[in-house]
Amino acid sequence: MAKRIYDVMVIGGGGAGLTAALYTSRANLSTILFEKLVSGGQIASTDWVENYPGFTEGVLGSEIAQKMEAQAVRYGTEIIYEEVKNLSRKGNIFEAVSTEASYAARAVILAMGASCRMIGVPNEKELMGKGVSYCATCDGAFFKGKKVIAVGGGDSALQEGIFLTRFAERVTIVHRRDKLRASPILQERAKMNSKISFIWDTVVDKIEGEKKVEAVLLRNVKTGVKQKIPTDGIFVFIGHDPNSGLAKGFVTLDEKGCIVTDASLATSVPGVFAAGEVRQGAVRQLVSACGEGCAAALAVQAFLDEHC
Ligand code: NAP
Repeated sequence: MAKRIYDVMVIGGGGAGLTAALYTSRANLSTILFEKLVSGGQIASTDWVENYPGFTEGVLGSEIAQKMEAQAVRYGTEIIYEEVKNLSRKGNIFEAVSTEASYAARAVILAMGASCRMIGVPNEKELMGKGVSYCATCDGAFFKGKKVIAVGGGDSALQEGIFLTRFAERVTIVHRRDKLRASPILQERAKMNSKISFIWDTVVDKIEGEKKVEAVLLRNVKTGVKQKIPTDGIFVFIGHDPNSGLAKGFVTLDEKGCIVTDASLATSVPGVFAAGEVRQGAVRQLVSACGEGCAAALAVQAFLDEHC
């Protein structure tokens, strides 16, 4: 068991986790936060955020991520850039074992977020980073003057598709239905963009290429007609799956793998709370992730007041 016992451990450094840590630190609770990659979670790889209140003109995703991290650290959060591999309870103390060490705390906030869903077609894994991407902000610049395909019909597909037109000569959005799920403002912008075209009622059956993506095989789900489209890249934006592997067997998950909580964001294990996209019923917006982080932190304060 670790020598030091923190009041709170937060697992995940996205909007939910960083806000939770800010609140618990500012409430004078010793707080440790684990992040396996870079702080900010999905927001760190989002180009531009237009709907976070207070930023009239919008703000870079990376900027807001850095500021949230700095704000939590300013009030005392200790950030550990390690991946937590196992979580357990010993009496009233929780233990997290990372790739490097073990850590202990009296309460836990699970805020591991969600990861991009894969299509699951041949060559998708093999050509990842060789033309297959899940992040326009990260990889868009590699496609200057090239042709790319974006898969999906939600806000991500349209927002990222529009971003890709800064570099790519043509962005073809392939959607499995003939109606977009994305918000009207993004639909309007995408349809007005002369570099964007749509292929409706269509799914990707296969990605082709030896050393890099060269083409995709598409199938119309209504007619069954197949076509091969040459492309330099394929960007996949078909939703997210919760990063709840660590919580499996420790707290109750639903059939989709999301952590089940009550109205105060408490999980099935007393002293363990969850916030953000890893949680069942999360709205999947930065502002709501931050709101849940705050609510979980307040619930932790009440729990520690009562039990410690
Ligand atoms: P999403 O809203 O779940 O949309 C996923 C899209 O992918 C849907 O159009 C879906 O088709 C399609 N899809 C799902 N599985 C598929 C498969 N196996 N093959 C082909 N297509 C598939 O996901 P998202 O766009 O990542 O957005 C997630 C959340 O983040 C949403 O709440 C969204 O509002 C939010 N978000 C907001 C902003 C913003 O406010 N600017 C930006 C990005 C994301 P169907 O439509 O047929 O289901």
